[in-house]
Amino acid sequence: MKILVMNCGSSSLKYQLIDMENENVLAKGLCERIGIEGSKIKHEGNGKFETEKPMHDHTEAIKMVIDALLDPNHGVIKSIDEVNAVGHRVVHGGEYFSNSVIITEEVKKAIEACNDLAPLHNPPNLMGIYACENLMPGKPQIAVFDTAFHQTMPEKAYLYAIPYELYEKYKIRRYGFHGTSHKYVSDRAAALLGKDKKDLKIVTCHLGNGASVCAVKNGESVDTSMGFTPLEGLIMGTRSGDIDPAVISFLMDKEELKVKDVENILNKKSGVLGLSGVSSDFRDIEGACSEGNKRAEAALQAYYYRVAKYVGEYAAAMNGVDAIVFTAGLGENSADTREAICSYLGYLGVNIDKEKNNCRGKEVNFAAEGSKVDVLVIPTNEELVIARDTKELLDK
Ligand code: AMP
Repeated sequence: MKILVMNCGSSSLKYQLIDMENENVLAKGLCERIGIEGSKIKHEGNGKFETEKPMHDHTEAIKMVIDALLDPNHGVIKSIDEVNAVGHRVVHGGEYFSNSVIITEEVKKAIEACNDLAPLHNPPNLMGIYACENLMPGKPQIAVFDTAFHQTMPEKAYLYAIPYELYEKYKIRRYGFHGTSHKYVSDRAAALLGKDKKDLKIVTCHLGNGASVCAVKNGESVDTSMGFTPLEGLIMGTRSGDIDPAVISFLMDKEELKVKDVENILNKKSGVLGLSGVSSDFRDIEGACSEGNKRAEAALQAYYYRVAKYVGEYAAAMNGVDAIVFTAGLGENSADTREAICSYLGYLGVNIDKEKNNCRGKEVNFAAEGSKVDVLVIPTNEELVIARDTKELLDK
């Protein structure tokens, strides 16, 4: 069985074709600048190529993807019939979806009903679904939601302390994101530790450009740092994370800004970029720091401190923690980040082996001998979760 995994953004589209017999990635690639001048596709299958060609919309981009998969030189399939189904990443499933689903007319309506909750993500996700329907009519399509894993959060974790009627009227509550990643790495952690996930309390730290922490108890998400939108929680590349809501009206007043302007500051100009003034990329900030840049140092210290506070919070929420997992760009690659965060966690019985921690991009348990808590690096694989869920639904 071959599954095509699609992750459609507003102007970009990532894809992977996965052979589910052995879970091998047959081909993968990226369409960039969809609907903008200079659109191009980067494809890796039977060798690599990069082509610049106008793609006015998602249908044209997905047509390019299909052509790339069928390409006589670089392609990996002879006919699109070899693709059994398409699995789509959908960012927001609201309270409608706590699992992946086969896409029907009703499902599309529900995804559209969540557009208000994720205006930048759900509309392009839907565009990708419609485009695949047009280009591959009759092929089963499955939606896998970033929010679904967190639908197990109890009310006490997802309610905001605002008038309850506003939750009822607008569904303002905490949803959480990166669900496929938190699910994948927590499942992998249980497998690597040789334990049943039902017996484990795990804190998973997804530290990429976007970042979130999740408390996974008995295999279920019981709390997570992102909330109504992916702005809440940790300090991120360009996002502020937690902030006193009063700052928003204060800024609007003092700087004569509109709501959209403040949103732009908090989403695009804050985080380690805003603090350091250097970059949103941790490699640049770590570089600046080693050259003595004080703001870069302050940004990193604030970042580590925030992650460590969330780990402590979730240890309290679960009444203990058996394992802490680091994943995504920074979590997988930066030994300094992992060490700095773990340096706050001695009181939980976390003790790391610095030599084992000196690794990147591979599965490693870097807890020192005798550490009460296992500490792991696990590269995330959201595409594989999407492909597995798609296969499971097809098998049913
Ligand atoms: P992601 O969103 O998961 O792709 O993560 C991207 C982020 O990971 C980049 O912006 C970098 O800040 C960070 N990153 C990737 N590789 C490294 C590395 N070797 N050292 C430090 N940070 C890294």
